[in-house]
Amino acid sequence: MDFLKPRYTPMNRRRRIYEGKAKVLYEGPEPGTLIQHFKDDATAFNAKKHEVIDGKGVLNNRISEFIFQNLNDIGVPTHFIRRLNMREQLIREVEIIPLEVVVRNVAAGSLATKLGLEEGTQLPRSIIEFYYKNDALNDPMVSEEHVTAFGWASPQEIDDIMALAIRVNDFLSGLFLGVGIRLVDFKMETGRLWENDTVRIVVADEISPDSCRLWDIKSNDKLDKDRFRRDMGGLVEAYTEVARRLGILPESDTPNGRGPVLVTSKD
Ligand code: UDP
Repeated sequence: MDFLKPRYTPMNRRRRIYEGKAKVLYEGPEPGTLIQHFKDDATAFNAKKHEVIDGKGVLNNRISEFIFQNLNDIGVPTHFIRRLNMREQLIREVEIIPLEVVVRNVAAGSLATKLGLEEGTQLPRSIIEFYYKNDALNDPMVSEEHVTAFGWASPQEIDDIMALAIRVNDFLSGLFLGVGIRLVDFKMETGRLWENDTVRIVVADEISPDSCRLWDIKSNDKLDKDRFRRDMGGLVEAYTEVARRLGILPESDTPNGRGPVLVTSKD
């Protein structure tokens, strides 16, 4: 039954550079570019919890595109070039700095647990934290001392990363506040981008409800990955709501992405 086999399978022909928990990176069409593919996989607790959630990748691709395009437009450098299709975007190849940069505005998650703060407590000011990206070690929190001593980033690069983190936090806080959402905290990643002989730090990876805590301003409803971490259900509906409020999806799109319903006439 040869005719049942797909004739064209570009996905398999592309060189796969890296596969992570929620994304795959493929070789791009030109040197210095990559294709970032968003999967539907959701993981938490260092991948001990894993599920495939239909439609998550498509939503994160769109939401992250929107955020990165806006960052580019206001002069915050990122790796993003353009979205290619429902699940993929064209990005610049960068050397990822092995740090998760977390910015917090409100106590939640690990900070609330560690310091015994009630979730939802406004912090005295925004706080930036670094975690060393290493699954085998469970991404431990590290200080600037560790970052420079082990050569993960130079003191100048740390300054650049913190300046970027503050700009991204200010931009995202305002963006989300405008659509009735409180940006509690988020994680971003950075990379070194070579342009001729110069290197600069740019925002990389993704920024989406997978990597942010987003609470509805009025109800405090969670519109982020905590719905998965805490088995609350309704993840795709929550991400769809974020996309819709940002104006990315038309008002009429159904949350579960089933598309139009066929209405048949009986007469
Ligand atoms: N975060 C992330 N990836 C991680 C760990 C954290 O995107 O591997 C995000 C998380 O979604 C939240 C912020 O970083 O928006 C702070 O997370 P926290 O340290 O509270 O960790 P958690 O309790 O979520 O494990």
